[in-house]
Amino acid sequence: MNEELLNLLCQHDDIKGRFIYSPLISDWSDPISQMSFIQDLQKALHNGDFLDLYAHIPFCKELCTFCGCNVKITSQKEVANHFVQNLIQEWKGYSPLLPQNQIRSLTLGGGTPTFLEPETLNLLIQEIDPSQKLWKQIEIDPRSTTQEHFKILKSHKFNRINVGIQDMNNDVMTNVNRYQSPERIAEIFNWAKEYEIPEVFVDLIFGLPGQTQESLSASTKQLLEFSPDFINLYPLVHVPWLSDTQKAYGHFETPKTREKWQLYLTARSLLLEKGYESLGYGHFIHPKAKSYQAIKKGVVSRQLMGILPFKPAPYLGLGPGSLSWSGHMMKQNEKVTEKYLHLVQNGLSTHSKSHLQSNLEVERTQAFQNLFAKQKLQLNSKWITDEKISELGIELMKVIANEISAEQKET
Ligand code: SF4
Repeated sequence: MNEELLNLLCQHDDIKGRFIYSPLISDWSDPISQMSFIQDLQKALHNGDFLDLYAHIPFCKELCTFCGCNVKITSQKEVANHFVQNLIQEWKGYSPLLPQNQIRSLTLGGGTPTFLEPETLNLLIQEIDPSQKLWKQIEIDPRSTTQEHFKILKSHKFNRINVGIQDMNNDVMTNVNRYQSPERIAEIFNWAKEYEIPEVFVDLIFGLPGQTQESLSASTKQLLEFSPDFINLYPLVHVPWLSDTQKAYGHFETPKTREKWQLYLTARSLLLEKGYESLGYGHFIHPKAKSYQAIKKGVVSRQLMGILPFKPAPYLGLGPGSLSWSGHMMKQNEKVTEKYLHLVQNGLSTHSKSHLQSNLEVERTQAFQNLFAKQKLQLNSKWITDEKISELGIELMKVIANEISAEQKET
């Protein structure tokens, strides 16, 4: 195990790994109106920027105890059907104000987008992308995704699915209230092939209660048999004081810092051995991935929607709790699903929190988005100078640069 890298990762354990905008919502202090946001977005698009769309489907049938997402637990499908009508309504409020030919992608996330009945999913996609021009991806929960869902994805020419696997070990997953059989996961990969989904990304979590070096190694090897294109290996973010979900389930034993990063390095070694390349801090791409060439050329952005094979651009979030960024302004929709629905139904603004970014915050946000585009640069090169890292407060960049240079030495 690479002790130098292990020490560095442990030292930076408090870094918010998925930090992709600045400042954090808890530090937003300079509110702007919904109209100012739209005008700023229109200006950005008028000046040639593109726009990425995100639609949040908050529903899940059961609660995974590690979850940090904005979710609504229900088994009533009719609630979701009603919700989608309102999501479409929200989109129709923006759509006439935006140049359609500059909208380039749609991400469906959650919650669980495949909680929706296939015909409801079909309706939603049809309304947002009627001419099937957008690059599209969707988060898939293996437990709720059916063959009918895959038929819809194929008919709308989806480019990527992101499969939430987290761990292949039954005991580990049952312990966090998320049992999913290996047979079900195999079925998802088979359908992805049968319905010609160009890219399959998967999410794994390390640091889950009950995970051991042995169990995570076995789980990673089992997953690699399906040969996914990209693996997101995320640390468990255990913050019961921030997450009602984690609080509700009380404290569960999770590995200590060093043990947690040892788990990461164990899985990382297996991925590198199998030909995956590290983009740094838990992102691993296989050269067979459709996005590989674009990403290697630096055409990549690390957004709320994950890793997109495009240059960074503003984004617009639909649905409860969704974030939007115009290039200088950030806003968040009302988080509580019932309140969000009330606002849409009454033709009111869904905007709940907002912030006008300072120049430094804009620069920091752009640096986060560009993180992987510049990842081949060496430490202390023109872009990743120690001074720049200190000025922007992006220690994550140093960790990534060190991880990349460690990989270059190892291979
Ligand atoms: S981890 Fe995913 S499936 Fe589980 S509760 Fe959270 S959003 Fe739902």
